[in-house]
Amino acid sequence: MTTRNEQLFESAKKHIPGGVNSPVRAFGSVGGTPCFFTKGEGAYVWDADGKKYIDYVGSWGPLILGHAHPKVIDAVIDTAKNGMSFGAPTEAEVTIADVLCEMLPSLEQVRLVSSGTEATMSAIRLARGFTGRDKLIKFEGCYHGHADSLLVKAGSGLLTFGNPSSAGVPAAVAADTIVLPYNDVAALEALFAEQGSEIAAIIVEPIAGNMNMVQPSAQFVAAMRNLTMQHGAVLIYDEVMTGFRVGLQCTQGLHGVTPDLTCLGKVVGGGMPLAAFGGRADIMGYLAPLGPVYQAGTLSGNPVAVAAGLATLAEIRQDGFFAKLSAQTAKLVAGLNELGKDHGLCAQSVGGMFGVYFAEVVPTSFADVMASDRTRFNAFFHAMLDQGIYLAPSAFEAGFVSAAHSDADIDATLAAAKIALSRC
Ligand code: PMP
Repeated sequence: MTTRNEQLFESAKKHIPGGVNSPVRAFGSVGGTPCFFTKGEGAYVWDADGKKYIDYVGSWGPLILGHAHPKVIDAVIDTAKNGMSFGAPTEAEVTIADVLCEMLPSLEQVRLVSSGTEATMSAIRLARGFTGRDKLIKFEGCYHGHADSLLVKAGSGLLTFGNPSSAGVPAAVAADTIVLPYNDVAALEALFAEQGSEIAAIIVEPIAGNMNMVQPSAQFVAAMRNLTMQHGAVLIYDEVMTGFRVGLQCTQGLHGVTPDLTCLGKVVGGGMPLAAFGGRADIMGYLAPLGPVYQAGTLSGNPVAVAAGLATLAEIRQDGFFAKLSAQTAKLVAGLNELGKDHGLCAQSVGGMFGVYFAEVVPTSFADVMASDRTRFNAFFHAMLDQGIYLAPSAFEAGFVSAAHSDADIDATLAAAKIALSRC
């Protein structure tokens, strides 16, 4: 019998390329039919066939409070009643800029945009405009959105499709993007020794989440900060995924690093299209209308999106929020590690973000992740899905726990994992 999910996917393919509006949604790597969701509440989502799942994707990170959090929904409805968009300044934009600069000491100024891609693309243009240099360093397996110069060895979606770059990106645009291995201090030092005066910026996921989750070594973190400082390059922390997800001061707070620019997305908009980039005032002053670097957006700082962001940020700033979220995520990970011991599975977490790997030890590089067992991941994914646990449909994605995930949800997930591991 054909399910409603299958019917919808077939219909979707008629007028939507591949049936989806973003590639990883298509289950291309794990196989099978994607779930079409009809409802989300707290830790749960329901698909078009009425099946309920415990959700560890959370719209790929934004939903740190869970689905349809009442305070976020109220803020959105109240704001929308007064108009959806003005394309003119609003007081809420001033408020959220103040809040962000107060929360993150590295931000002296911040500009709002509508997607993580816009944030990273704009931050790079700004870094190039500020330094008068063209070359950009990124790391293998890191994804920074789908702007042309960044689609070089760019992690999850492209890895899932076995396509390390993208057609349609002019060679000349990619030529200024230098790709180095993540966590390789010697390679970074060698590059700066040779070309330091030509490097505009390093852009990095300070905890990577687009080649599954990979943590940086302390040496790598220090080298990026020191080398950019020595050579007059801009250090851009792409915290679109990690921002307000791994801790209240993002990764930079955990590492004690002050980047020059930071990109934010996902959690900052609480599920609405909102993202931001910001940092040193002397660099941000290069942006139009003050300076020569152009950047703009019809819906930038959209009032409804800002309202969802402010409501979300207010909740995560409550006492003990991150301690509780981190403990809940750590509980899931400890349970998975215990179950995984004899099954070649391991896991790790930071704050509300986690990685699960079919590998003997937690990966620390792109090569390690590539060496993990993807066939077993795919079987595990489907065994979990059957039992009502929704994980990201790719071995190259991180997972997310929300404040709505209860002890019972974690226990149910671990019980399902035990059965799934016996099947794969
Ligand atoms: N940077 C990082 C680290 C991301 O994880 C993502 C999205 N997964 C982006 C940038 C791009 O954000 P968006 O999809 O909102 O354009």
